[in-house]
Amino acid sequence: VSSIDPALGEAVQRRLRSFGKASVLFYQEPIRMARAEGVYMFDVDGRRYLDLYNNVPSVGHSHPRVVEAISRQAGLLSTHTRYLNDVVDGYAERLLATFPRGIDHLVLTCTGSEANDLALRVAKVTTGRMGFIVTETAYHGNSAAVTDVSPSSRPGQPLPPHVRAVPAPEMYRNPVGDPGQRFADSVAAAITDLERSGFGFAALLVDTIFSSDGIHADPAGFLAPTVKLVHERQGLFIADEVQPGFARTGAAMWGFARHGVVPDIVTMGKPMGNGFPMGGVAMRAALLDRFAAEVKYFNTFGGNPVAAAAGLAVLDVIEDEGLMQNAREVSRHLMDGLREIGNRHMTIGDVRGAGLFIGLELVRDRDSKEPAPELASLLINRLRRRGILIGAAGPFGSTLKIRPPLCFGKDHADMFITACDEELREVAAS
Ligand code: PMP
Repeated sequence: VSSIDPALGEAVQRRLRSFGKASVLFYQEPIRMARAEGVYMFDVDGRRYLDLYNNVPSVGHSHPRVVEAISRQAGLLSTHTRYLNDVVDGYAERLLATFPRGIDHLVLTCTGSEANDLALRVAKVTTGRMGFIVTETAYHGNSAAVTDVSPSSRPGQPLPPHVRAVPAPEMYRNPVGDPGQRFADSVAAAITDLERSGFGFAALLVDTIFSSDGIHADPAGFLAPTVKLVHERQGLFIADEVQPGFARTGAAMWGFARHGVVPDIVTMGKPMGNGFPMGGVAMRAALLDRFAAEVKYFNTFGGNPVAAAAGLAVLDVIEDEGLMQNAREVSRHLMDGLREIGNRHMTIGDVRGAGLFIGLELVRDRDSKEPAPELASLLINRLRRRGILIGAAGPFGSTLKIRPPLCFGKDHADMFITACDEELREVAAS
C-alpha cells in the first residue's frame, strides 16, 4: 500500500497502531473516506465512489431529513428510555403498523446483534427449550450467544451442541426438486436431532434473504412449508430482517412477506436509523409479556428519543420518496442488464435476488459451476479503483453482493453494468 501512496500507507499504519489485527479494512488499497451523499461516497481527496455496498444508509447517505430529525431531537431531549416520550411512542406505533396483525409488541435495541440475542432469550423462555436451527453460512451478530448461532463467524469450528445448521434453500447449485420442500426436510431432520439430544427445539432463525449464504430469494414462498413445520413441532420462527427489511426487497417492507409467512419474532437493525445505531425485536404480545414477567430487560440507549426521531424520518422517507417501488423498478433494470452482459461473460454463472439485494455469482466454468472467489476479489478491487464500491458474500466468497442505498437509480445501475462488462472483458483478455 505504501508504495502506492505514502499518505495512505501512514493512515493504514495509524489504524493498526490503535486497533491491531482486529481492524478489518476493505480493498487492497483501503479508502480514506470523508463524506457521503445519496448513492455516492467521497474520499479525502474528493474522489467520488458509487456505492453498491452500503445498506445501512438505506434511504441515501446523509439524507437531509434524517440528519435534521437527529439534530433537532438531540437538541431537545437525548436520554435513556425510562420516560414517557411522544417521539418514542409514536415511532413504536408507526413501526408496529408495518407488521402483520399479531406482531404487536416491540423492544428497541441499538444493534442487530442485541436484537438477535434477545430473540434467542425470548425463544428459550417461551418454549422452555434450548435448541436452535440456522443455515450453514449464517451470520446473526457478535454477542457470545449469537456467535454460537453464526456458523460463518466460527469457520472450521464445530457447532455448539445446542445448534444445528442446515443448507440454505439454494437453487443454483442444487436445482433439482423444490427448494422449499428440501429446506423443510432438512429442518425436520435437525428438529428430530435436537429433540433426541435432549436440548429440544426452541426456534429456527433465518435471514429471510439468506444474505451470507449467498442471497437466495426465489421462488417467493419457499419458506412457507418450513414455517408450517416449525409450528407443528412447537418451535418458534424468528425472521432476521436486518438485511432484507425496510423495503429493500421492493416487494414489501419485510423480507418474510415475500414468502407469505408470519414469524413469531422479527429482528431488525442496520437500515433502521439510516446510520444512527438502531435495532429492534417485534413479536407476539404474549411472548414479550411472558418474557418480561421472568426477566428484567433494560437497554439504556435502545429506542432513545434521538433514535426514535431517526427511525421516524427513515419511515417517512421510504414512503414519501417511493423507495420500495424504486427498489422494484431498478432491480428489474439491473438484473436484466447483468443477465445481458452474462451472455458475453462465461464467468457470470447466475444473477439472482429481490429488489435492491442482488447476487451475481462468479464461476470458473458455467457447466461445473465451480466458484471463482479469486475473480470476485479481483473484480471488487478493480471496481474500487474505478470508483465503484461492492463486496462479496456466500459460502465461497464468489457472490458479488449488490446492495446499494434504495435511492439507487437506473442511471447508476447502467454505470455499474458497463463497469462490470468492461472489467470482466479486461480480466478475460489479461
Ligand atoms: N443479522 C444479520 C443478518 C446481519 O447481517 C447482521 C450484521 N451484518 C446482524 C444480524 C448483526 O447486526 P449488528 O452488526 O448491527 O449487530
